[in-house]
This record gives sequence, C-alpha cells and structure tokens, in this order.
Amino acid sequence: MAPPRRRPSQLTVRALERSADASRCCAVFGCGRVPEAAAGTGLSLFLCRYHRQFKARHGSEWKRSYSAADLAPYRRAAARYLKPRKPDFWIANALIAIETLLASGRSTRITDLRRANPDVKARAAFARLRDAKIPPAVILERCVAVLAMHLEDHSKPSGREFLDVQLAKSVHRLAAGKRTSYGPGSSWYRAAKSSGQVLRTLGRTLRTACEFVEAEHVPAVLALKVERDGAKPYRQEPLVRSRFGNDRAPPPIPPEDRPLAGDGDITPRMVEEEARKIRRRFREIGWKAFEGEF
Ligand SMILES: [Zn+2]
Repeated sequence: MAPPRRRPSQLTVRALERSADASRCCAVFGCGRVPEAAAGTGLSLFLCRYHRQFKARHGSEWKRSYSAADLAPYRRAAARYLKPRKPDFWIANALIAIETLLASGRSTRITDLRRANPDVKARAAFARLRDAKIPPAVILERCVAVLAMHLEDHSKPSGREFLDVQLAKSVHRLAAGKRTSYGPGSSWYRAAKSSGQVLRTLGRTLRTACEFVEAEHVPAVLALKVERDGAKPYRQEPLVRSRFGNDRAPPPIPPEDRPLAGDGDITPRMVEEEARKIRRRFREIGWKAFEGEF
C-alpha cells in the first residue's frame, strides 16, 4: 500500500507562494537578486536567499565575520591584560558566570540538534565546551577580544546582533563538534552548524556574562592593543559576495513575463533589467551610482 500523502504545512505553503508585499530587489546594494518572498522560494520580504543565509551565518547582511587573523592582536592584548587581573572583582564575577554556564550545559547528540530550539542548541554548545575542558579564562579572553575589536571597528552594523553573533562564533569554534570512535581506525566527526538563532542566543548569554568586564576593562584592553600593534587602519568594507567568486552564490531567478501581483504592468523581467543596470553602474562607479536616485 502506498504511504499516505502528507499535506504540506502552512509554513511551507506560505514559503512557496509569491508575496505582493515583497520588495522588487534584494535590499543589499549591488546584489539585484529577487527577494525570497517575491520569487516564491522563502519568507524573506527584503533579502535574496544568498544574503538571507549570509545574515544567518554572520549576523549582518553586508559584513563578514571577524577572522581569526583579524582577532589575533586583540586576543594577545586580552590575554596580557586579563592574566594578572584574575582576582579583580568584575573579572572574577565574569569567570564564575561562565563557569556556571558551562556547568548548566546539557549534552545532546549533534544529530538530534537539527530540529531543536535555540536554547537547547546553546546549552549543547556549552556542554561541548565543558566536555572539551575549555577553561572559562579562555572563553572570557575570546569574548574580550571580540568586544575590543568591535569597539575599534569603524564600519560595524548598527544594533547588537552582529556583536552577539561574533561573540558566539568565536566561542563556538573552540568546540564545534564531536568525534565518535567506533574502534581502531574508524571514527566520525560531526560539527554543529554555526548559523541561525542559536548564535544570537549564545551571544546574548555570553554578553550578559561579560557585561561588567565590557564596561570596566574593554577600553583598557583596546588601549593595550593600540600601544602594541597600532590602531586599526580605516578601510572601506568590500561588497559582500561569495569568497569563491559569485559562482557558488545561487544565480538570480530567471525572470518571467507574468506581471507581479499588485504592480500593474511591471513584470519580473523588467525588474531584472533594472537591477542589471544598477549592478553594472555600481561595479563601474561604486556608491556614486546611487547619487540622486532616491
Ligand atoms: Zn541579495
């Protein structure tokens, strides 16, 4: 007997229908792809699939995460600053808070995390750090390094989301996965995804644990870094694109001649034409392409 056909969930139905509320073009300048909701491939009203996933991974739709190399001078300064000051009231307080978080972690198999809620995933991340025997001082050092870099960053996205994600990512990668051994020469490593709401939850929790260290000590750590390695030079953020070139980014949805809902005679093909023009001008003359346009 054939298995009963499952009815698609309401969410799936909503994700697959084209929304008249969606904008015509992805909100990231120079992108020009169609937002997910307009293309019928997801729920995002303003972002294409590439930039929606980029934001889930990095906490911003246009700024890439801090790399380990970028963070290295801040980590050196944080280590030098924190080591002799462990008895300081706020530093000791943060270390105890992190120790409590590690103790409250609950081990969950990575396979089971896929559909778990962000709180469960965050507690599993703390459990992995505890099982890997990562000392609270190392976690605090990473957090202080990210806070100092964020403080000096000339071009950071507004709000706390990007900072939360950066805090979470720098700690998450200390123990991202687990290796299961089935015998000599046979083992399997699986890492938890460093993307989505779990990074926001994890980052908020870490930020709360270090909030007084952030207020009392991070400016001094930054001063130490500037004294030793110099100030961060100003540079304009490059346009976000796949690091493999745009080959790995999904291609734009092929335009259609069917009019967009509620837009009279405007068809996706016309929108795509317009977007292509904007992309070309942006590549040629940069941000000047938008002068006088809005
Ligand atoms: Zn986009």
